[in-house]
Amino acid sequence: MSRVVDPTPDAIEAAAARLRAGHPVAFPTETVYGLGAGTLDAAALEAVYTLKGRPDDNPLIAHVAGAAAARALVTRWDTRCDALVERFWPGPLTLVLPKAAHVPDRATAGLATIAVRAPRHPVAVDLLAAYGAAISAPSANRSGHVSATTARHVADDFADVADLLVLDGGPCAIGLESTVLDLTGATPVVLRPGSVTEEALGRVLGPVRVLRIDTQAASPGTSMRHYAPRTPCVCVETEELVAMLAETAHPVAVLCFDTNAVPSPHRPIAMPQGAGTYAAQLYDALREADRMSVERIVIERPPETNEIWKAIVDRIRRATA
Ligand code: AMP
Ligand code: MG
Repeated sequence: MSRVVDPTPDAIEAAAARLRAGHPVAFPTETVYGLGAGTLDAAALEAVYTLKGRPDDNPLIAHVAGAAAARALVTRWDTRCDALVERFWPGPLTLVLPKAAHVPDRATAGLATIAVRAPRHPVAVDLLAAYGAAISAPSANRSGHVSATTARHVADDFADVADLLVLDGGPCAIGLESTVLDLTGATPVVLRPGSVTEEALGRVLGPVRVLRIDTQAASPGTSMRHYAPRTPCVCVETEELVAMLAETAHPVAVLCFDTNAVPSPHRPIAMPQGAGTYAAQLYDALREADRMSVERIVIERPPETNEIWKAIVDRIRRATA
């Protein structure tokens, strides 16, 4: 059984002690929950891969207290990094930079680059301070499954794991994984869209390139099927929804904007109209739909009217791939 605890000072100290002893710990960030181990502790990182069932070639994000700690993990840090960190850290922006030699290969899945981010969730901040070094953490879900945005989600995914400590920091405020920005070349490249948008990055950096979803081999974890519920899942336009539900005899779970559009026996899950709140609730809604034991999950396609919606639709595409 996983052990979910309130993030009291004692619990955070206990979590740091577990990290020092080489045991993975789950903790909240503002994006999603992370399953962390010391960035320099290759054996503990191996345990994270084993626990998640994470493919060997999928690299981790190193969580750091701030720019100084990030610089210690990389060999190049330029004025673009200073400007980005000044504007977006602590927060949901991950920078990919050339990795320093002392960082073990296991922290980067053998890549010559490392992804670094300073989270702003107070529990993550306190844990980094108590541990006193970088913590590499993928999302705290079983590999391929929907990311965890509550401590309960983590405990559900790792119910069979003896004695995994989960710091409960409440539901994640953002609920979408961080924006990943590759700064190893002359032009910055967004490898994974997130709540730090291309437009916001552009204001600091000038032009940035956004990798198309099907060309994301550069960021291995962005493989097409990802963030997926266990139940088969499709996404349909609002106009198609009503006809589709009318034709479907078996109950399906429907993530929709208007529950009145969903007749019985189908099971509506009301989704918010605002992109920020939709993002914060998406993974919880997918997990709830999964628990309904229906044959299919149907997601009403959100508008792609701003970049947060685009990041959301990116995750929906992967959930339905
Ligand atoms: P997760 O924390 O589970 O969202 O996974 C972290 C993701 O960050 C990976 O799946 C990659 O997409 C990305 N990432 C981490 N390190 C690198 C890197 N060195 N180069 C490119 N992408 C990376
Ligand atoms: Mg993940």
